[in-house]
Amino acid sequence: MASLRIALAEGIEEWKPRVQTLAHEIHTNPELAFEEVRSSKAAAALLAEGGFEIAPGTGGLPTAFTATAGRGELKVALCVEYDALPNIGHACGHNLVAGASVAAALALRPYVDELGIELKAIGTPAEESGGGKALLLERGAFDGVSLALMVHPVQDGMTYNPAGSSAQAMGRYRATFVGRASHAAAAPHLGINAADAAVLSQVAVGLLRQQVPGDHRIALYVAEAGIATNIIPERAVVEFECRAFTLGDYEALLERVLACFEGAALSTGTTLSIEATEPVYQPLMQNNALAAHWTEAMRTFGKDTTCSAGMSGGSTDMGNVSQVIPTLHPWLSIPGANVPIHSHGFAAFADTPEAYSVMFEAATALAWTIAGAATTPSEREHFIKSAYNPHASNRKKQS
Ligand SMILES: [Zn+2]
Repeated sequence: MASLRIALAEGIEEWKPRVQTLAHEIHTNPELAFEEVRSSKAAAALLAEGGFEIAPGTGGLPTAFTATAGRGELKVALCVEYDALPNIGHACGHNLVAGASVAAALALRPYVDELGIELKAIGTPAEESGGGKALLLERGAFDGVSLALMVHPVQDGMTYNPAGSSAQAMGRYRATFVGRASHAAAAPHLGINAADAAVLSQVAVGLLRQQVPGDHRIALYVAEAGIATNIIPERAVVEFECRAFTLGDYEALLERVLACFEGAALSTGTTLSIEATEPVYQPLMQNNALAAHWTEAMRTFGKDTTCSAGMSGGSTDMGNVSQVIPTLHPWLSIPGANVPIHSHGFAAFADTPEAYSVMFEAATALAWTIAGAATTPSEREHFIKSAYNPHASNRKKQS
């Protein structure tokens, strides 16, 4: 194992310049969910160069792909995210997610037979919105997979030990209030004001926030609420989301938030319709065995792994994968990044030498984690048995 670890680290070293160019280019040309045309092509092209077979358009998603190497019994998937955020670019650092997974895949490629693995690097679009992995999971992209891995950047100060950490369940919705237009001065009393319903729903949700547990989250914004001051607004749209660390808590929270919208409709006389805008993101579960390999690897790089990264707000569609496949999704603290993710400042930190340096440590740790799981007989056997089979009648959640 020691010589294999050295060989894998050398593999990362060899691919460094190409992978850093890839991550930098993804950062420089941010593309939104489901529109990651250049980013997915560039990632797939580099994997093809490294000897992977590429199947584009996985699950009917044009910007997804599956890169495969090896025919071993243990099927391993590295997830390659590359979507950015509206207006703030790669403020979630998905260019680093892509770089770490691609580098790990390229370094492992020459050793897939020795490790007895089938290695997939799955291009997974639309993590920020749209639930790309939830769709890919439903559409068979993860069938037969025993292990799923990726890393995700965060601000400085979080430890590199993911054991027991999680991410919140989340659902996103669009509430549409419909009232009646009328002249705002000549006949305001004949109008039904949908913008008022939007305001009332926001006030009700704001008051509700005090009455829910501290780890619950509700966020919303008014997307549409009128078009001219001399017309009573007949239509208003509020986009909202709810998050909690268990599905049960999430569902209970959602019910209370829906009541805020219903109350706003009732009091204004508007009609209300609510639609889900994307699949529900499920809570994230970290696999303990994989977390132990990863943490040990990061410790050898001198990283702080003294305690678990713990729970903080946020969600990922990797949560859906983690509910059915043993998953590792560690948090990758970017040294010096003293600003929150989803800020302009973090977007800048995601393209610094410090970020790329820790991205390659992460790539090495991912490769060592996969090699460790594949060569530890008890773990290997357990993981092969837990391969994802959506058709199994007695399919249980992974533990
Ligand atoms: Zn992200």
